[in-house]
Amino acid sequence: MEINLISDTVTKPSKEMLEFMMSSNVGDDVFKDDPTVNELEDLIATKFGMESALFFPSGTMANQTAIKIHTQPGDQLICDKYAHVYNYEGGGVSFNSGVSCKLLDGNRGMFTNEQVISAINPPDFYHSPKTSLVCAENTTNKGGGACWDIGELKKIQQTCKENNLYYHLDGARIWNAIVQTNTNPSQYGKIFDSISVCLSKGLGCPVGSVLLGSIEFINKAIKVRKLLGGGMRQAGYLAACGIYALKNNIERLNEDHIKAKEIESILKKSNFISQVEKVETNILIFQIEKNIKTDVFLNKMSNQNIKLISMGDNKLRLVTHKDYTNQMHEKFLDIISNLKF
Ligand SMILES: *Cc1c(COP(=O)(O)O)cnc(C)c1O
Repeated sequence: MEINLISDTVTKPSKEMLEFMMSSNVGDDVFKDDPTVNELEDLIATKFGMESALFFPSGTMANQTAIKIHTQPGDQLICDKYAHVYNYEGGGVSFNSGVSCKLLDGNRGMFTNEQVISAINPPDFYHSPKTSLVCAENTTNKGGGACWDIGELKKIQQTCKENNLYYHLDGARIWNAIVQTNTNPSQYGKIFDSISVCLSKGLGCPVGSVLLGSIEFINKAIKVRKLLGGGMRQAGYLAACGIYALKNNIERLNEDHIKAKEIESILKKSNFISQVEKVETNILIFQIEKNIKTDVFLNKMSNQNIKLISMGDNKLRLVTHKDYTNQMHEKFLDIISNLKF
């Protein structure tokens, strides 16, 4: 039995999801003629209380599209030093939009309103790049699945309004934040100009993300998606998985969170671990003792058929998910409880 904790993207569609997928009605989505894609887009837009939505093949493309629309070449966006848009989108911010990032030294991928205020370049000082966009991420990926305080997000919204900045949420794992903090999608929809959400993470779909915003914004997004080569034809088969997941796989995220917390409590007691970051959702980041090489640790794990990933600096990450079963969980807890170096 392989236990794959590399990411919550490793899940495979369940039998029920596949059946639902096979029974869906499809059409050519490039002509906006796929009823299932249209249904998914309407469903998510309604959930978030936003005007419109657009289905994307990846979260990266959804974020990059939002950044392209909200900025002009030479502009600067503000984000955390851990942000996915800065670290893990292949430099797309500069490649696609010709934009630089002002990085904030936040806490677990989250920053404060004060930090945003002090990072805005004065608009009349023509020597510096024009600040045009703030990007937040919830939950934070490199920050270990931390959830934002919605009050702070609102304060930043006010700052954006006062300074004519757009405000984008990379909500790849917003579902985890919603379940964990007892918030609802429409609360986030009221705060941001645009939101990207992933279906292929904790929700267990094989492919897909959705970008949300105003009608005007989504009209621009469909053009940028075309430019990036993201138009898909009978994509309803993929969108159907999203419809299925929204109904069946949101509440269950709590099980992933509980499992991650149980792993946390065992790792905290382990003598080969120097630090475990506080677990809030399904991501757990921990640091092994300096005298243990990361490769040695990972090899020891892989000998037991367990997969994790290294984040550099003796840090390792594991992510719980739908296909990490109770049986795997028991076995994993047993293995790490008895691990010796
Ligand atoms: C996974 C992820 C994305 C998008 O990733 P894709 O692999 O392109 O779908 C964006 N932001 C965050 C925070 C993520 O974790």
